[in-house]
Amino acid sequence: MRFFTQKDCPADALERERIAVLGYGNLGRSLALNLRDAGIPDLVIGNVADTYADQAKADGFRVLSIAEATHAADVVLVLLPDEVIPEVYAKDVAPHLAAGSVVVFASGYCLAYDLIAPPDGIDILMLAPRMGGSVIRERHQQGDGFHAFLSVEKDASGKAWRRLLGVAGAVGALRRGAFELDARSEAQLDLFIEQTLGAIVGFSIMTAFSIGVEGGLPPAALALEMYLSGEMETVWRGFREQGLERSAATHGMTAQFGGLMRTMQLFQAGLYDQFRQTFEEIRNGQFATQFQAEREAGYPSLAQVEAMGPQLAPLTEAEDEIRKHLTTRSSGT
Ligand code: NDP
Repeated sequence: MRFFTQKDCPADALERERIAVLGYGNLGRSLALNLRDAGIPDLVIGNVADTYADQAKADGFRVLSIAEATHAADVVLVLLPDEVIPEVYAKDVAPHLAAGSVVVFASGYCLAYDLIAPPDGIDILMLAPRMGGSVIRERHQQGDGFHAFLSVEKDASGKAWRRLLGVAGAVGALRRGAFELDARSEAQLDLFIEQTLGAIVGFSIMTAFSIGVEGGLPPAALALEMYLSGEMETVWRGFREQGLERSAATHGMTAQFGGLMRTMQLFQAGLYDQFRQTFEEIRNGQFATQFQAEREAGYPSLAQVEAMGPQLAPLTEAEDEIRKHLTTRSSGT
């Protein structure tokens, strides 16, 4: 994979480029503030008139409708929820793009599943951060950056990479370094890991809590053990800093023996096949089709998530009991 750092950012890449950030949500706000810090003179926000628009105005930005902001820009960052983009893009973005302009997506989702139709003569780029919006901003203010995947999906202008590296440098994505990865792979990777590793972690926490409480362990002690003490974060930090194998070797024989034995049981329980099936459904577009149908139906599954609230109440209470004794320090590094 090609790797880019700040030295790959052409100093004048965004000179005379007018930039629009469409969507002032989690990522939109952080990237817009970072772009302003980078000295981008001509920056507008495109948002529907509501609280996000009010926030953008309070932050000192000029706020236009999505269509007007698109019309006013050469570089358009589409920072709307992935499942919303197809509809808004077709109606308010594509018809207003000036010839020779560039559209940047923060995820490969819509490109991977052909949910948008890029007009001719437009550069189509992806700058997909590997970090949440609020931490991106926090780090930027500390002079630090974040990793991202970059891709030129369509180079109509012949200067698409220059522009992409210009945007990446301005938002802080080259401070820690960015890797080249095409949009299809980015979408598959993102969905696959959140639907396997992410799902397993959440499920394991809820299940271990229920069974532990049933078995007589104190709820608050379970919450402390699983995440409130921060010990588990140091395990993940060990993976990052030393590597999975090398850091696992530092965990002591009890953890190594128990971990190995239970991992083998999970393997035999068919988890491997289930992950493979998940990957296949992501790769063949079945998940994206389901997700777009979910949006069109008004997110009926959200009701199920809300219905889980009472089941999670004992865990939340256990967290609160521990938290009142803790001095937590935020660490987004
Ligand atoms: P948010 O949900 O935080 O963004 C919401 C923004 O989209 C708001 O400005 C909201 O405006 C607008 N919006 C929502 N629905 C509509 C609609 N129907 N019509 C017009 N505007 C709408 O999104 P994120 O910041 O989480 O994600 C944006 C992109 O960034 C996505 O592609 C995501 O994959 C990517 N990304 C996000 C990260 C993150 O940290 N969240 C990290 C990496 C990538 P309003 O509500 O005012 O209508």
